[in-house]
Amino acid sequence: MKSCLILFLALSISGVSAQNKYGLRTVVLSEYRESIKSNPENELVDLEKFMPGALMDIRYATTQNFTGTKIYNLAKAYARKPVATALKKAQKDFRKMGYEIKIYDAYRPYKATIKFYETYHDTTYVASPFRGSRHNRGCALDMTLVDAVTKKELQMPTEWDSFREEAWPTALVQDPKIRENRDTLIRVMEKNGFKVYASEWWHFDFVGWQKYDVLDIDFEELK
Ligand SMILES: [Zn+2]
Repeated sequence: MKSCLILFLALSISGVSAQNKYGLRTVVLSEYRESIKSNPENELVDLEKFMPGALMDIRYATTQNFTGTKIYNLAKAYARKPVATALKKAQKDFRKMGYEIKIYDAYRPYKATIKFYETYHDTTYVASPFRGSRHNRGCALDMTLVDAVTKKELQMPTEWDSFREEAWPTALVQDPKIRENRDTLIRVMEKNGFKVYASEWWHFDFVGWQKYDVLDIDFEELK
């Protein structure tokens, strides 16, 4: 018993990741730094700096999200390097069509996923803390499109983070303009290495996300 306690303390002090209460191994700052040394693709890139012109509307840094509370202290959008590179390619394609990207959420610290799950248990819409979210791996984006000139959001079938069935990318949409907007977003993102999520037209997973660990690092630590 005593040796277990000592081991636990030693692990805590050294900052080595440990299993959390949902049995998932999460990576903390010191381990993340080491992982970049061995593989630079693990780096979380600040999207605001990496892709100038993209709009940031980080809803979890506001009360405008399904929890009604502020989850993040900072309005930041990070993604792993290959994810950011693929998104930048998509941005180029969208610009040719007169659109610009608007990001609602990108990398999400694991502790936020626990909070979501403990607020709202339906794992159709919130990630299971037993597996973690692809957002936790720095491999997912919640986003929409805006008109490049007016910066006005294109009309989509639902608002972001809607729990309605109309939010499914396969949902029937009567209005041809809205359908085209949604389908354009999905088509261009999938062409650039992402996959839309089955119940959210705004959520895109980077193809190959399985290679990346679940991170529990705050935005403040990444600055
Ligand atoms: Zn998402």
